[in-house]
Amino acid sequence: MDLDYTPEDLAFRARVRAWLEANLPKSLPTLEDRKAWHRKLYAAGFLGMGWPRAYGGQEARPLEQAIVADEMARVNAPPPVNGLGISIVGPTLIVHGTEAQKQRFLKKILTAEEIWCQLYSEPNAGSDLASLRTRAEDKGDHWLVNGQKVWTSGGMISDWGLLLARTDPAVPKHKGISCFLISMRQPGIEVRPLKQITGSEEFSEVFMTNARAEKEHLVGRVSEGWAIAQTTLSYERGGNALSRVTRALGHFNRLVEATKRLKGPRGRAFDDPVVRQKLGRIYAEIEVMRYGALRVLSRLEKGEHPGPESSITKLYYTELDKRFQELAQEILGPYGQISEGGPEEFALDVDSMLGQQGTWAYAFLWSRAGTIYAGSSEIQKNIIGERVLGLPKEARADRK
Ligand SMILES: Cc1cc2nc3c(=O)[nH]c(=O)nc-3n(C[C@H](O)[C@H](O)[C@H](O)COP(=O)(O)OP(=O)(O)OC[C@H]3O[C@@H](n4cnc5c(N)ncnc54)[C@H](O)[C@@H]3O)c2cc1C
Repeated sequence: MDLDYTPEDLAFRARVRAWLEANLPKSLPTLEDRKAWHRKLYAAGFLGMGWPRAYGGQEARPLEQAIVADEMARVNAPPPVNGLGISIVGPTLIVHGTEAQKQRFLKKILTAEEIWCQLYSEPNAGSDLASLRTRAEDKGDHWLVNGQKVWTSGGMISDWGLLLARTDPAVPKHKGISCFLISMRQPGIEVRPLKQITGSEEFSEVFMTNARAEKEHLVGRVSEGWAIAQTTLSYERGGNALSRVTRALGHFNRLVEATKRLKGPRGRAFDDPVVRQKLGRIYAEIEVMRYGALRVLSRLEKGEHPGPESSITKLYYTELDKRFQELAQEILGPYGQISEGGPEEFALDVDSMLGQQGTWAYAFLWSRAGTIYAGSSEIQKNIIGERVLGLPKEARADRK
């Protein structure tokens, strides 16, 4: 890949940076504020950039999208509230949806008029997603849905869900699954929040009791759900790897600054050879991550899909984040455990409007989640072994 930016790319980056400097909000206390920020990003042309123009996108190049993600990470800009709609549901509908579904749903994802969640995982179907038991029965004029989902990110604020449900229990398990768009605003759907160790409630359990999915809201054909889920997951794993590098470097620089202020019996932590060695190793690993991200970007620029190689990127950055956050805790000691307030010089991000989410304590806890969502590290290793390296398949190859 040509790693040099063209003059047009540089001008675009300058425009994005100037816009963010002028528009970055100080805080987003309510859901309405978060929706307004989302709309502002869209109006500026920074959301759904790669989508077809016919559905509200701009058909922008992957490099332009990477520049926006990179600049947002540089200033710790809050993400769009309809993140799953933009990154997963929209791309899935663009590939597999009917024209009527695209017309009905895509624009409202971009404008955050309808917030989306992903209804895949169940209590006994996470890695082994094909074992899911939620049933959708054909009732002639609609589908009747019964079952339970879990770990639904943003379930509490969602208007619609992308659902995987079993439509044919008689065939091998991954052949009997279909994909639906289901309204979360109906009497048959109950959403219960799940409180995390961080104290916040970003997930939920979703109970579906005689809920209704409309006939025209089946995505693809009946029993095609497994193939559709693979599209969804490759976007979830491969997206925005470059912005993660920028974010990791931002955190790394904060940690280095903190070591200059931390004093032990033998002087500054910054001058301790063991601390320096460990920091040096993490820095080198972040640089490796940069080249991995550029490889994904290069594929996308050539018009290729992220593919199973996106598992390499996902495995690498999430495992690295865990190692990095563990090192930060080791160096910062009690300062790393402050979850509110605390001295600014030891905060993860002083300019952050993310509140608790801008603390080292939160970042440490969150790093554990990274190696689980969108398929755990063990599952990524299976995918890399089987689909990238071509090694023999494990006994149950229908896992997430
Ligand atoms: C932050 C976060 C957000 C999420 N958001 C959503 C969401 O919006 N929608 C949604 O549907 N789901 C969501 N999930 C759920 C996520 O997809 C599952 O947690 C994940 O697939 C793992 O499933 P599980 O939790 O059931 O663990 P299990 O599948 O029970 O796995 C337990 C352990 O066994 C290991 N294991 C399992 N199978 C194998 C194997 N074949 N080989 C080797 N090791 C194996 C796993 O690696 C893991 O360590 C989210 C999860 C997290 C952490």
